[in-house]
Amino acid sequence: MKKKAGKKCDLEALKGEVLAFAEEREWLQFHSPKNLSMAIASESAELMDLFLWCESHDSRALPEDAESRARIEEELADILILTLQMANVTGIDLGQAVRTKLEANSRKYPVSLCRGRALKYTEL
Ligand SMILES: [Mg+2]
Repeated sequence: MKKKAGKKCDLEALKGEVLAFAEEREWLQFHSPKNLSMAIASESAELMDLFLWCESHDSRALPEDAESRARIEEELADILILTLQMANVTGIDLGQAVRTKLEANSRKYPVSLCRGRALKYTEL
């Protein structure tokens, strides 16, 4: 898969762009953590809807179809935009939160126990 040329992705810069978008429209009044959490779930459901009734092996091919890929990109962007806005309104350091969670996951899922196995950590 080719990587498209473009601006380097910088989490803080993206957060700023998302915040500016909402501020320009005076939407911060609607962006409570409750509403944003529900919007993230709603957009996640829209992403899942694109794969609904699709067999697992077909779901791997779906992003190769240009029209489907565009729709997947839109829903992923919606989810990330709302996630970035949640980080904005809560003051959560998303980069640190991801690193902290990855560290916790690496302890829960040691490579020696879980490589190639799709099991929950309680079943390892
Ligand atoms: Mg959407």
